[in-house]
Amino acid sequence: MSDLQQGILVVDDQKVVRHTLFLCLQNLGFTNVYQAENGREAKKLLNTHSIQCVFCDLNMPIEDGFEVLKFLDAQAYQGAIVLMSGEEEEVLASTANLARLYQLNIIECVAKPLSFATVKRLLTASERVLDMEAHHAPHALPPLTAKLLKGYIDKGGLRAFFQPQISLSSGRLKGFEVLARLFKPDESMVFPDLFIPTAEKHIESITDLTKRVIECAYQDINQYGQDIATLSFAFNISAKVLEAPNFPQWLQATTAKYQLRPEQIICELTETAFTTDQATIDTQMLRLKMMKFKLSIDDFGTGYSSIAQLHSIPFDELKVDKRFVLDCLSNTKSAAVVEQSIQLAKAIGVNVVAEGIETQAVCDFVKALGCDIGQGYLYAKPEPLNVFDWRTASIQRGNRE
Ligand code: C2E
Ligand code: CA
Ligand code: CA
Repeated sequence: MSDLQQGILVVDDQKVVRHTLFLCLQNLGFTNVYQAENGREAKKLLNTHSIQCVFCDLNMPIEDGFEVLKFLDAQAYQGAIVLMSGEEEEVLASTANLARLYQLNIIECVAKPLSFATVKRLLTASERVLDMEAHHAPHALPPLTAKLLKGYIDKGGLRAFFQPQISLSSGRLKGFEVLARLFKPDESMVFPDLFIPTAEKHIESITDLTKRVIECAYQDINQYGQDIATLSFAFNISAKVLEAPNFPQWLQATTAKYQLRPEQIICELTETAFTTDQATIDTQMLRLKMMKFKLSIDDFGTGYSSIAQLHSIPFDELKVDKRFVLDCLSNTKSAAVVEQSIQLAKAIGVNVVAEGIETQAVCDFVKALGCDIGQGYLYAKPEPLNVFDWRTASIQRGNRE
C-alpha cells in the first residue's frame, strides 16, 4: 500500500472499532482514512472518493456489509476488500464462501476485533493481490465499462470463435463450442473474461451480446452449407438471457432462418449470473427443450445447483469444468470430481464433455473413465471457423496459423 494518494475506507457501526482501525492505519502511515457507520454512508464515500481498500463490517443495522458488497460488485470495484464480523467461526467460513461468488478482490473474512498485526498482514496481502491483478495479462487492460463495450459492439467488434469438440471413442470431430471475442478498432482482441461480466450486469446487454454472437456464428456456419449438417454448435447462455422474454422464440426463428436444425444447437447454461427467478429459468429451459434444442450444464461441479438442476430439467449433457480436468493427474480431489461427474452422467444417461484437455495423458485418463467428448488445447484453441479444415472430420489446421 505505497500509494498514499488513494484512501482506505472503514465501515462499521461501532465507533470503537472504527476508531481503533483508524489509529492502526495511521500508525502504518495511511493518512487518507475515511469512516462510515453504515452501508449508506459507505456508498456515498465510494462514489466521491478514490478508495483502494475497504474494511467492511458485515452486521450493521442500516444497509449491512452484504449491501456494500452488492454495490461494489455492481461498480466492478477493482480495489481490495476485507470483511469483518463478530460472528462465530462457522458463519465466518460460510460468509467467506459466499463472498467468493462476487467478482471482487476479497482478501479475507476476519473475526473482530482486529489486532495491529492482523491489519498489517491484511494490508500486505491486499497489496500483493492488487499487484497481481495489475500484472495478470487480461486484467492489465483497463476494465471495460458498459458504455465502451457497447461502442465496440456497435462498431461490429464482436466475433465468434470456434473450439472443436472431439468424440473420444472415434477421434472424430463432433462439433464446436462457440466463444465470444471482442475486437477493438485497432484489431486488438479482448477475451470474454473482461467483457462478459460487464455485459451480465444488465439483461438487455447480455441478451443483445448473446444474440449477436449466435448470429455471427450462424453466418460463418452458413458459408459451408450442407457440409456442416452433422456437426453440433454449443453456445454459452447465461441465466440472465433466459430471464429475457422470448429468447427461446428468437433462437428458434433465427436457427430456422439459417437453415440449421435445433438438434444441432447446444445451449450451455452457465451459472455465472445470479438469478432470483428459478421458475422463469426452468420454464425457458423446458421451452428450449421442447423446441428440440439440446441443453448442457456448463462448469459442472462449480455451482451449488448443478445436481438439483440435473434432476429437475431434462439436460442432454454435462461439461466437467476445466479447473478439475486441468490438474486431474496431479490433484486427487480434482481426479475424484472428474471421476464422479463422469459416473453421474453415465448413471443418468447424459453425454459428458471434459473441457480443458491439454495433454494426451489427461485425454487417456478421462477416456478410460468413459467420458464421451473432449475439448481443449490438445486438439485446438478457439479460432475463427475458417481456420479449421473440419471437413476431414478430424481436426486439421487450415490455411491460417
Ligand atoms: P467456458 O464456457 O468454460 O469456456 C471454456 C473456456 O476454456 C474458454 O475460455 C476456452 O478458451 C478455455 N479452454 C478451452 N480449452 C482449454 C484448455 O485446454 N486449457 C485452458 N487453460 N483453457 C481452455 P474463453 O474463450 O476465454 O471463455 C471464458 C468464458 O467466457 C467461457 O468459459 C464462458 O463462460 C464465457 N463466454 C465466452 N463466450 C461467451 C458468450 O458468448 N456468452 C456468455 N454468456 N459467456 C461467454
Ligand atoms: Ca461453455
Ligand atoms: Ca468451464
